[in-house]
Amino acid sequence: MKKITIKTIDLHVIALPLVERLRTSFGEEPYKAAILVEMQTDEGITGWGECSAEINPGYSYETVGTALHILREFLAPKLLGKTLSDATEVPDLLRGFRGHPLAKHAVEAAAWDALAKANEMTLAEAFARHLPDDHQPRGYATVGVSIGIQPSVEDTLAIINKRLGQGYGRIKLKIQPGWDVELARGVRAALPDITMMLDANSAYTLADADHLKQLDEFNLLMIEQPLGYTDIYEHSKLQPQLETSICLDESIHSVNDAKLAFDLGACRIINLKPARVSGYTESLKIYKLCVEREAPLWIGGLLETGIGRAANLAFASLPGVTLPCDISATDRYYNPDITDPPFVLGKNSTIATPTAPGIGVAVRMDRVQEAAKRWQESYPYQN
Ligand code: MG
Repeated sequence: MKKITIKTIDLHVIALPLVERLRTSFGEEPYKAAILVEMQTDEGITGWGECSAEINPGYSYETVGTALHILREFLAPKLLGKTLSDATEVPDLLRGFRGHPLAKHAVEAAAWDALAKANEMTLAEAFARHLPDDHQPRGYATVGVSIGIQPSVEDTLAIINKRLGQGYGRIKLKIQPGWDVELARGVRAALPDITMMLDANSAYTLADADHLKQLDEFNLLMIEQPLGYTDIYEHSKLQPQLETSICLDESIHSVNDAKLAFDLGACRIINLKPARVSGYTESLKIYKLCVEREAPLWIGGLLETGIGRAANLAFASLPGVTLPCDISATDRYYNPDITDPPFVLGKNSTIATPTAPGIGVAVRMDRVQEAAKRWQESYPYQN
């Protein structure tokens, strides 16, 4: 592997309009915020990474504000001037800093991109170098679509039918108490054969076990993160009571969390968000664990722009990622995105991975600058 030496790290905070507004527990946001990490090397290469921290500490405790602080004051200074022969060296360099996985993931991702470009390989090929020979990238990722909480079953069915018509082969529905069993029943009655799963985003407690058991009759691919967002133990009490497989998302921050969850029987499936586990180095460890345990694995998303989406698609193209991923085509989120060309849905609910080196998509600086200006104007209190 050709080495790189990190010369500069520039951060671009952007606000990008979403095609559909994002409804969270904090209300609706018209924009997706992101911190783009632009890493220049002495060899004249530019690597890009994306930090998916949100404006509010909703999904994660990290926010755009905390991530900027950690990136500027700690992570970037630690990496400047360093020579890397592999991006898996980054976590060791950052080992002195606790927490802040989303910020760490962003600089590590930029290093993966820069090193892959320096060695004229795709990001998927760079990941596969760390896996056994029979884990070569497939050239595509199998994907599905996630649908938020709607006013009625009819509204939900209308959106599901639209997405099925677009070619998405797996439907994920967000649920919460009062919007679960009847939703699943209504959708199953209308669409008995679709591949369907539910995501609870920690909306239930162990006291709801009997209620959740009612979901077993709907032939669900899985139920994602029913209990607390840091919990593994109570999930281990719930899983044996359900026929439906539990998938853990929020609770898994490291390969050790994943081992604990499997050993306790807290889940059978993992939703791996590379940003949540601090990067692709830790993601590769979780990937190998899932292969070893023969546990289904899929890749989740945090509404990444084309930079983060390209990297996640590359990871999702590895053959140990066995279930459809939450990585939709670009037009589902942004029009236009900050990268070219857009990702489009192909046959059999797949998205092809780029063939150019690194992330394989071009960053449009004009759009980055426009989105950075929008951030400055829309969220002046954050700067
Ligand atoms: Mg989830």
